[in-house]
Amino acid sequence: MTDIDQNNLSDRKEIIELLKFIKSSPTAYHAGASAVELCVAQNGFTELRENRLWKITSGEKYFIARDSSSFIALIMPISKPRSVCILGAHTDSPGLKLKPMPTKAVDNAILLSPEVYGSPITPSWMGRKLGIAGQITYLDGFGKCQTSLIDLGKTVGRIPYVAISLERTQKDKIEINFQDHLPVLCGLLAEEPFNLEAELKKIIPFSKLLSHDLFFVPTELPEIVNDQFIFSPRLDNLLGAHACLFSLLESQQPEETQIKMVVCWDHEEVGSDSYKGAGSNFLESVLNRICDNSELSPQEIAMLKANSSLISVDVAHGRHPNYIGKHEANHSPLLGMGPVIKHHANQSYATDSKSASWIQLAGIRSGVPIQNFVIRSDTLCGSTIGNIAAPRLGIPAVDIGAPILEMHAIEETGSLLDHVYMCKLLKTLLTSEFTT
Ligand SMILES: [Zn+2]
Repeated sequence: MTDIDQNNLSDRKEIIELLKFIKSSPTAYHAGASAVELCVAQNGFTELRENRLWKITSGEKYFIARDSSSFIALIMPISKPRSVCILGAHTDSPGLKLKPMPTKAVDNAILLSPEVYGSPITPSWMGRKLGIAGQITYLDGFGKCQTSLIDLGKTVGRIPYVAISLERTQKDKIEINFQDHLPVLCGLLAEEPFNLEAELKKIIPFSKLLSHDLFFVPTELPEIVNDQFIFSPRLDNLLGAHACLFSLLESQQPEETQIKMVVCWDHEEVGSDSYKGAGSNFLESVLNRICDNSELSPQEIAMLKANSSLISVDVAHGRHPNYIGKHEANHSPLLGMGPVIKHHANQSYATDSKSASWIQLAGIRSGVPIQNFVIRSDTLCGSTIGNIAAPRLGIPAVDIGAPILEMHAIEETGSLLDHVYMCKLLKTLLTSEFTT
């Protein structure tokens, strides 16, 4: 049985740190910056750049970012590496991304047009207070090209509903045309009307904006409710990314021969097929460079990969008490009842019986309850990063996650206890060679 005290969960370090991580990570770019702060600034990881030569030392801690929204943090073993325990997650969340030239006027209204990023529950973005955050590239006062993260840190607009008298069907159904109905109302024509570039300049005084990756973000903060729930934007998948990072930072003692690693990729919500997604060469390239630095022969590199494990951590579908028929009866994860192993016969999840056993065994050893999920046989299955990263590397993988409700809504519902369980489970996996 678990030895976790289930009282005063909101006072636990895992939860306090989770809240800070979500608040400081309005976009995937900011999640990367939050990881730099945690690993490099607070815990002494050495940052390596992909475009420089590396010198890796046994027992040391390293951090590598790719365009700030994807990153790898690792702890080298004391001796020659023979395996890697990889905890994987993703930094991005579904939402609304500003178009390159977003500003338009309709009547006397100024609106900013978004593209839909991934598969958000789009109606949940209506009638919400929205800010803007992301990454911009600009010319500074000296004519030099710079890239910076930006967060306006305030509400700039909302997508107003149409009144019920004008669209009676809205009483129980909202139909949204992505082109026509999603532009965000940010101002009315006036002497000094709302101007996106002027708003950005208030934060970073550049001379010319060159390009941007900006997203609308909800400005309401995450909230702990009844010492049991977290209601928050971006639980998918800052919950997973934070659990991976927290567990690594709580177990910084190097292993004898196993590399401890966390990798978080961007672009999972749009298929992972980008130079910084799980389908990219990012992890493979870092692994190869570490092996090269550790003077492993090609044979030893193949052996290291065969001995390694990828634990893909992304949120899971908890059973919704108002929609219990949506789940398969024997595989219905409940909130507060522990991490979920995700199975799919057709490999939308990378789990097999061997990799599932890593989690079952770590659960037994750590006193963390484990649940199982299979989608109903009449419902299409989602997927995540495990089945994308594992084939490229030839490393066995398992897909797990904390159960949440409302996946892909602007705010989602999670359980504090499940996050505590997940952190404990991952720490156990990192500190024991379960997988070899
Ligand atoms: Zn996800």
